[in-house]
Amino acid sequence: MSAKIISGKLLSQKLNSSLKNSIDQIKGIRAPKLTILQIGDNPASNKYIKHKLKSCKNVGIDCDHIKLDQNTTESELEKIIIDLNKNNKVDGVLVQLPLPNQINEKIIKNLIDPKKDADGFNPITLGNVLLDDTEIYPATPLGIIKLLESENINLAGANVTIIGRSNIVGKPLASILINKSATVTICNTKTKNLAKVCKNADILISAAGSANLVTKKFVNKRMTVIDVGSNFVNGKYCGDVDYDKVKKIVKYITPVPGGVGPMTIACLLENVFKLYLNNIK
Ligand code: NAD
Repeated sequence: MSAKIISGKLLSQKLNSSLKNSIDQIKGIRAPKLTILQIGDNPASNKYIKHKLKSCKNVGIDCDHIKLDQNTTESELEKIIIDLNKNNKVDGVLVQLPLPNQINEKIIKNLIDPKKDADGFNPITLGNVLLDDTEIYPATPLGIIKLLESENINLAGANVTIIGRSNIVGKPLASILINKSATVTICNTKTKNLAKVCKNADILISAAGSANLVTKKFVNKRMTVIDVGSNFVNGKYCGDVDYDKVKKIVKYITPVPGGVGPMTIACLLENVFKLYLNNIK
């Protein structure tokens, strides 16, 4: 038996189409507006931004892309963010990561007004995620929750193992799951016996960024596997999971591409819409 594939591509299309309807219905008022700031010319960032611009356009979000020179200083970027924070016609501000070395990512994340925090990376937003007191969530964790809920996969009481403890995926995702009464284990590169720690989970979420990390030894037949990883091996895009072998064993699995990636963008757009609704109140 092969696993049921949870398609992020299909679910994101549904979410985007419902978001487009909601935006279309607000007549007479300006469109929601997102500003994306990019520093430098990182090829992966160029690709991600291209997807974001296209997706914004499709749902009716007005999106500005400001591309700054690789040598932009931290204070130059700060000044632009402060101006955007003050600009009433901008609902969401997103700084594309990674940033060049001369700019401190932490300072920049802190500076974006939580009321315009489209990515959900500001410490205040993340604190509110932890406290279960927010409308805005980092897009990738929210997308993962929506994928699980779309298949009615039980989260309350589920044993969930997450590989990866980053501030943008692993930690906020663990907080959301804990708030939904899951029992959560978070792994990192120092975790001993990783396969054994994963093996008995009901849900395994891999956000390590390491191709073929999750093999048959990590899984069981009642497991749901969510693959967040985004890797290139010999020019081929893949996740963290040894997909062809693992899908023959587990109950549900997300593909790469077409799994978490499109859900991240759909949830980013949803964040912009929520920020817009609060801004025009
Ligand atoms: P990160 O590098 O900040 O964090 C990776 C985490 O995984 C770290 O906590 C590390 O300890 C852990 N890890 C790495 N290798 C491991 C191993 N062999 N065993 C156990 N733990 C290990 O990365 P991130 O920003 O959280 O992203 C993780 C992956 O997810 C990357 O491939 C990234 O490109 C991808 N990603 C995809 C999307 C999407 O929308 N599809 C969004 C965000 C991140």
